[in-house]
Amino acid sequence: MGVTILPRAYMKNLIKLLERDYPAIAFRQSSIAQWSPQSHQVSYVSTEDPAGVWSTLHELGHALLDHRSYESDVSLLQMEVDAWKKAIELAELYAVTISEEHMQHCLDTYRDWLHKRSTCPTCGKHGLQQSNALYRCLNCQGTWMVSSTRFCRPYRLRKAQTQ
Ligand SMILES: [Zn+2]
Ligand SMILES: [Zn+2]
Repeated sequence: MGVTILPRAYMKNLIKLLERDYPAIAFRQSSIAQWSPQSHQVSYVSTEDPAGVWSTLHELGHALLDHRSYESDVSLLQMEVDAWKKAIELAELYAVTISEEHMQHCLDTYRDWLHKRSTCPTCGKHGLQQSNALYRCLNCQGTWMVSSTRFCRPYRLRKAQTQ
């Protein structure tokens, strides 16, 4: 896979367009791409890596779909899929091509994370989620706590790049 580098001004210009088109949403430069429903803010990573653009559109996808809370890890996964679908629609509008490989990689990372959470630490079988932070194993009846769920972070600035 060839390395694509975007011109420095690319992200800046895209953010200008997004700010114009979505005045109700605040766009803020950060070291991590994320959607914050509380502050109605999309954080984006200003980088020459095209993944920075894709993740900005992904987080805007969460914003436009009004993603706030989730009942379970499974519904969170569905939100991730939906946010990428929305990102692809947005990409078309702004003449961006999102790498299918990147998208699948993000979703796979997410599925792996969910898989680990739902595996019983005692017997290794899959458990059922009881609440946001609790799983129960139907095989050995064990229960275990998990950290609160979070949206997938499709892009994070690598340490070396951070000032
Ligand atoms: Zn078990
Ligand atoms: Zn997401």
